[in-house]
Amino acid sequence: MTQAVPRVKLLIGGEFVESRSQEWRDIVNPATQEILARVPMATADEVGAAVAAAKEAFKTWKKTPIGARARIFLKYQQLIRDNMKELAALLTAEQGKTLADAEGDIFRGLEVVEHAANIGSLQLGEYAENVAGSVDTYTVMQPLGVCAGITPFNFPAMIPLWMFPMAIATGNTFVLKPSEQDPMVTMRLVELALEAGIPKGVLNVVHGGEHVVNALCDHPDIKAVSFVGSTKVGTHVYNRASLNGKRAQCMMGAKNHAIVLPDANKEQALNQLAGAAFGAAGQRCMALTVAVLVGEAQSWIPDLAAKARTLKVGAGKDNPDLGPLISRAARDRVATLIAKGVEQGAKLELDGRDVVVPGFENGNFVGPTILSGVKPGMAVYDQEIFGPVLCLMAADTLDEAIDIINANPNGNGTALFTQSGAAARRFQEDIDVGQVGINVPIPVPVPLFSFTGSRASKLGDLGPYGKQVVLFYTQTKTVTSRWFDDEASQGKVHTTISLR
Ligand code: NAD
Repeated sequence: MTQAVPRVKLLIGGEFVESRSQEWRDIVNPATQEILARVPMATADEVGAAVAAAKEAFKTWKKTPIGARARIFLKYQQLIRDNMKELAALLTAEQGKTLADAEGDIFRGLEVVEHAANIGSLQLGEYAENVAGSVDTYTVMQPLGVCAGITPFNFPAMIPLWMFPMAIATGNTFVLKPSEQDPMVTMRLVELALEAGIPKGVLNVVHGGEHVVNALCDHPDIKAVSFVGSTKVGTHVYNRASLNGKRAQCMMGAKNHAIVLPDANKEQALNQLAGAAFGAAGQRCMALTVAVLVGEAQSWIPDLAAKARTLKVGAGKDNPDLGPLISRAARDRVATLIAKGVEQGAKLELDGRDVVVPGFENGNFVGPTILSGVKPGMAVYDQEIFGPVLCLMAADTLDEAIDIINANPNGNGTALFTQSGAAARRFQEDIDVGQVGINVPIPVPVPLFSFTGSRASKLGDLGPYGKQVVLFYTQTKTVTSRWFDDEASQGKVHTTISLR
């Protein structure tokens, strides 16, 4: 007898419940095509019930002492550490990335949980004595209410952990909508969050796609929406949520360029470039997908291709260098874009399209691929590929390379490889990109700072996690108070606006 495929549950009001939806989607292991579970597209009533549970829970959660909130996250970080191996295996099975990289995905989220445990020192107001005679003014950072998070497939642990821990630690309640392509590790993290002590209704989860996302953007009881995903969907979410009066932040697509100056340490630069272009099969919003080789560095292409050729492609559970792409559709799209690149005049220095992984012939694999002579106007340059494909461009000077990057619509991440402090300083000052790496290929900031982004890579002023997200998930209330001495209360009626 074949075993029934597990069904992913919703979390509403502290209970894991089976959806009544008629519409379900398979969650597929990208290395084998095995169906791991089925995920529902939640109904409108289920979305409404999750928001109602969060609204009810907010009444008491907002009054829960700071220390009590913080201690939940102290316990949560330990539970994540204790379950790291199990979480990584779950993540690899449904997402495809290597076990080592899955642990990295979880660890970068765990750092945000650690920061949430420190919420007492982050959510502080200001106080000024005697702004007028016997008048004091102070501010408090109050939670907003019900907040929602919508996450992409490529970091199913880190990105949900960018969102709900900080929202909840600051006193909000939350409705999470994970990626429907790989929600299983997210659900395990949610179970651990409840085990850590998050009360009923404070964290809720609904699954689905476009309809559920639109329902969250429209719901009058949701005060803020945090989104991470593609530029097309993020722009829609930003516009729709904002028009409905919500605070919104959307971290979106990318085309991250590295500049390689000829004075760079060649061995280090090429290793970093290959790791950042092909690691996670290029499915990172911070993957380096374009390298601008300046002057003499253009002669390094054969060495770069030789390094890329040594990378092992395989099933994530066997810990190769890179695993499969998330879906057949993603693999076919990447292969089509590579062909289009050649058709439009790029030179194929290394072709990963025919890679075969013994024992995993059905996997969605594409090996490291390098195209040189890439120019704006080619589809491989104008579109985010989201696969292990590195595009090479040439420039004569650092300034010319900076101009290329600033002319690209995206502004997520960038890196410079050089031994020159003066070049690094000019790059840092003149480049219009949110995350800048100097000899660091994937400069995702630790949560003492916030993730940023410029131009088409981000909508909304405040970034996820770090200090900025404390501002995103709170509203400032300004209180001006006067306590009269008996004599002072004998004064006259004042009809002007000045404080006297
Ligand atoms: P996606 O935009 O397809 O999906 C993101 C979320 O939106 C998912 O939860 C999905 O269910 C939902 N969604 C999909 N289509 C929708 C629609 N038509 N209407 C409303 N909601 C919809 O993104 P993805 O493919 O899951 O993730 C990859 C993308 O995310 C890449 O573009 C990558 O650069 C980006 N990303 C950005 C960052 C960042 O911090 N800037 C981080 C990770 C990923």
